Amino acid sequence: MVMLIEFGHCHGITDIDWTCISMIKVAINGYGTIGKRVADAVDAQDDMEIIGITKTGPSFGCKLAVNKNFPIYCTSDDESKISSFSKEGYACIGGISDLLNIADIVVDCSPGKMGVANAEMYRRANIKYIFQGGEKHDLTGLSYSSSANHKSAFNANSARVVSCNTTGLSRTLVPLYDACGELTVECTMIRRAADPGDSSRGPINAIKPVLKVPSHHGLDLMTIKPEIKINSLAVAVPTTIMHVHSIIVDLPANHNFTTESIIKLWKNQPRVIVMNGNKNRITSTAEVMEMARDMGRKWGDLHEIFIWEDGVSLKGNRLYYFQAIHQESDVIPENIDCIRSMMGVEKDWKVSVEMTDSSISRYYGL
Ligand code: NAD
Repeated sequence: MVMLIEFGHCHGITDIDWTCISMIKVAINGYGTIGKRVADAVDAQDDMEIIGITKTGPSFGCKLAVNKNFPIYCTSDDESKISSFSKEGYACIGGISDLLNIADIVVDCSPGKMGVANAEMYRRANIKYIFQGGEKHDLTGLSYSSSANHKSAFNANSARVVSCNTTGLSRTLVPLYDACGELTVECTMIRRAADPGDSSRGPINAIKPVLKVPSHHGLDLMTIKPEIKINSLAVAVPTTIMHVHSIIVDLPANHNFTTESIIKLWKNQPRVIVMNGNKNRITSTAEVMEMARDMGRKWGDLHEIFIWEDGVSLKGNRLYYFQAIHQESDVIPENIDCIRSMMGVEKDWKVSVEMTDSSISRYYGL
């Protein structure tokens, strides 16, 4: 849709008078943990809008969409399913095909492993599409993270935003790689057992190693930054709030880094927070999440990767550090940058990140 925007009427756009702006029409297929967050992040942007979201049926998530004025569509084209919404008092405009007909791009936030069938549906509808990290790289052949390979998604027809863990690895390892040209990494993903709203997963009283060794996380990083040599292990622990990564990196022998200069490098990266745990009394994920709630984003989200400054140590060529990942939200701004790249709007990842993050901050009045 092309809109005429009058000076001062569009928040965030201050230096233009009458301008033709093409708003990117975004559909969200699957309005759960990730879908509802991506929808809000799209709604926050000046260059894109939510054209509709889908629900499988009239569950409580519909109320959230109604409150946001997001048009509701059904994940199916089955008339009986579409009409079931009105019985519960929700207006359902149509089926998924109706939504795909009016959108420029669809962000698929359905549960993992539905990708093969959904991708076929998107191709038939001739629409651009983005999948999430629960799908395999091969589904689109293009995995994405803002700092690693924003440009490679420029004008692409399909992409997959990598998982929360891979996004976390990419935020801290890619700038390190870019600064020294060679990295060998061994890391352990200490993973939350389930999301806070999920009662179907565990363990609830066990520590469960992932017995597929090495785990898929390191391999997944290599889909967006193949130059980094990395192996990973994973363990699930009974918490719902965050993942923690324990990371060991071997730098090239001729590196010029100190512990302090690595900390400075990360402090200058977008979407990375480095804080001294002992001084700030943030010594666990519980306090990190409390700090995130204080920051004021919806759902207490933390889009940034959190590094404990006092847990970073460079001994010779070997770097040790811990980082924490808010699994439900670090991938959210990445989806926005990916839309912008695929729609051919912005090639420079840092410009897109700034647009995305400042719009989200304004949206929440931060
Ligand atoms: P979720 O279960 O919270 O939400 C999925 C939503 O899709 C639900 O509302 C469900 O009703 C709906 N749905 C069911 N069948 C559908 C269909 N056929 N078509 C469209 N929607 C359908 O799942 P989630 O956690 O939001 O995960 C979505 C994707 O994001 C997965 O690929 C997952 O691996 C990935 N991801 C999840 C997290 C996380 O921590 N939750 C983090 C990063 C990436």
